[in-house]
Amino acid sequence: MTEQSATPRISADLTGRVALVTGAARGLGRAIAVCLARAGAKVACVDIKLDVLAETVGIIRSAGGTAEAWECDVTDSARVNQVVDEVVGKWECIHILVNNAGVTRDNVLVRMKDEQWDAVLNTNLKGTFLFTRAASRFMMKARFGRIINIASVSGLTGNPGQANYSASKAGIVGLTRTAAKELASRNVTVNAIAPGFIATEMTAALGDDILQEVKKRIPLGRLGDPQDVADAVLFLASEAASFITGIVLTVDGGLTA
Ligand code: NDP
Repeated sequence: MTEQSATPRISADLTGRVALVTGAARGLGRAIAVCLARAGAKVACVDIKLDVLAETVGIIRSAGGTAEAWECDVTDSARVNQVVDEVVGKWECIHILVNNAGVTRDNVLVRMKDEQWDAVLNTNLKGTFLFTRAASRFMMKARFGRIINIASVSGLTGNPGQANYSASKAGIVGLTRTAAKELASRNVTVNAIAPGFIATEMTAALGDDILQEVKKRIPLGRLGDPQDVADAVLFLASEAASFITGIVLTVDGGLTA
């Protein structure tokens, strides 16, 4: 199954919903944006590079869906607020927020540079905070919201060479649980998904030899497909998940079982 697969594996009706997905230009973000649009949501596709983002928007529109592109660095607080205001100005609300944009800057702890630490914490954790803060104001007013944060199994178990990345993803778990408690009274749910190894450009960068070793450690014997994560997002965004908040759903083929 690919991120552009025509046959949905689960169905949910998101007609009338507005979703904002960060990091939507490629990888998991693209699969998530396409999946939510196929379920009927209007999708605000957000990423740092507008040219690649246009491909995601094109895929959604050519399938009959509704999407618009917003260029935004998720670490830029003023721009995040502006994008959220623009999306609400265009489509009146944001019902579903998927904080997916993320980067890695791997290095062993003793050699990790300040810039590597800052880049990862700022993009992964601060970016998630900024969009959550900006969008939740509107969700609280609307008495409805679904916030889904893409964490990682690295944030649950730790991973050598990823002190910055695992700290950022563990931070997302803490942010998710606190936001879930703060926003529950307004019918806004906040959950995290912790993917294991999913086949995207981020994992392709590890190289074939490492990926073969990784597969041996995954009980289900394969890397995940972006659609595996997109389907989990669709479930958490759907009515079926209306009593679920503050959880971390692992999508990892049993890696952390
Ligand atoms: P990719 O690197 O393929 O895609 C990430 C996207 O986010 C890119 O389009 C990237 O743009 C964009 N992005 C990066 N920095 C910013 C920023 N400051 N502002 C806006 N957009 C930005 O990653 P994946 O699709 O593999 O991963 C998506 C998420 O899932 C990440 O949070 C990642 O940590 C998480 N994850 C992924 C796993 C995997 O196995 N793939 C496993 C566990 C978690 P650009 O290309 O220009 O950098």
